[in-house]
Amino acid sequence: MTVQIPFDNSYARLPDRFFTAQPPTPVAAPGLITVNRPLAAELGITLPNDDTGIAAIFAGNTLPDGATPLAQVYAGHQFGGWAPQLGDGRAVLLGEVVDRAGQRRDIQLKGAGPTPYSRMGDGRAWLGPVLREYIISEAMCALGIPTTRALAAVTTGEPVLREAAMPGAIVTRVAASHIRVGTFQYFAARRDVEALQALSAHAIARHYPDADGPLGLLQAVIAAQARLVAKWMGVGFIHGVMNTDNMSIAGETIDYGPCAFMDAYHSEKVFSSIDQFGRYAFGNQPNVAVWNLAQLATALLPLMPERDSAIEIFTHEINTFPDLFDLEWHRVLRAKLGLARVEEADVALAFDLLTLMEQAQADFTRYFRGLSGADPAQTAAEFTDPGPFNTWLLRWQTRLDRETRSPAERQSAMEAVNPAFIPRNHRVEEVIKASLSGDYDPFFKLVDILKRPFEDQPENRAYQAAPAPEETVTRTFCGT
Ligand code: AMP
Ligand code: MG
Repeated sequence: MTVQIPFDNSYARLPDRFFTAQPPTPVAAPGLITVNRPLAAELGITLPNDDTGIAAIFAGNTLPDGATPLAQVYAGHQFGGWAPQLGDGRAVLLGEVVDRAGQRRDIQLKGAGPTPYSRMGDGRAWLGPVLREYIISEAMCALGIPTTRALAAVTTGEPVLREAAMPGAIVTRVAASHIRVGTFQYFAARRDVEALQALSAHAIARHYPDADGPLGLLQAVIAAQARLVAKWMGVGFIHGVMNTDNMSIAGETIDYGPCAFMDAYHSEKVFSSIDQFGRYAFGNQPNVAVWNLAQLATALLPLMPERDSAIEIFTHEINTFPDLFDLEWHRVLRAKLGLARVEEADVALAFDLLTLMEQAQADFTRYFRGLSGADPAQTAAEFTDPGPFNTWLLRWQTRLDRETRSPAERQSAMEAVNPAFIPRNHRVEEVIKASLSGDYDPFFKLVDILKRPFEDQPENRAYQAAPAPEETVTRTFCGT
């Protein structure tokens, strides 16, 4: 028996100019690192007990029955600069399945070889970014944040030339779809209204069946992005490359490149080595989201009957983003502080804490987790000058007195939103380093811990710790 995937490929039925038919390029020696069995089950995929057969499928050496492999075309603004044609340069969409919950999901091999959209690239990925994407996307899912998933990771047995020769690998990505803001931009830039219409109808049917036309679609995407970015910020996540080609119409986190979780809180934190001016800094993510959404609105304009009035209507919609985002962000912050009631001064209480944390370089995850525990006062012990934190703590406790939930209820609600474990950069680096000498134990261990990020796991306390100064990762690199 081989891997069986119940494909139903709707994107492949769209007009030819949406993609190029492109099979994955076989690799020298597929080796299975891991396959995500619970996810496979969710997708209705049958996996035999045969690692070689599984590796052959997820390396692209064997094409599963029913696959219609293709590379999608799109465009995008990269760091604000217009790139009229991008596309899957190293990814091949095998096809789609309708999962157990009735949701359509893409199955894509990332690192599967060159395509017509590879430009100067080799179409491949190396082991480091593949493990990073696996760990972080699965952790995001466990943290309750909309995200693409990782179904499998394999090695290719081929070197990939980066600064040095690195081991090649492929990650199988599962997504609600791979339709990006840049997919709309691609057709809009070509004044291909017919294609825009087909794309918009496809996206609506797939993601927002209640949306009424292009305006409804725009509204739905705006709302989804406001929710998503607020959720990112609630766990200290920095996407790192929020180019319009890396923003999913479905509202999922997509394209894990130089992304990172903050250790010490700073509103202007940047990790990506190529983000010189902090365009994609932690606190700038809502601003970039609105900029990207404005590009989506522009791309949708040709679908509206009358341009001038459409510009007015769409501008109004884009301008709803800041308030929508604030609503979501304040909701996240209130939950982090255990506040079920809504009071006007809550936001100031939260922002004052963030300011203190920024000044003291407090560890974002540890602080909020500590606050959720039985003895929040001990959080102050983390700081050389605990005074301001103790003062803030008193304010918070006074505010808690006006809550109606019992302290135990409040505590467990806080523990359900303030994770004990995040994929800390130094741990991810440690995993990659070990993998380069063939040791995947740290990878499996980290993936396992991050399946239950809200549980205390006393045996894994070391993974809660912030990095020691010499372990601190200050720069992350693109997934290439
Ligand atoms: P990113 O912003 O990292 O998602 O990628 C931007 C564009 O570069 C996309 O069109 C990718 O498909 C393409 N790309 C990235 N890495 C490679 C590679 N190694 N080979 C070919 N294309 C690539
Ligand atoms: Mg991308």
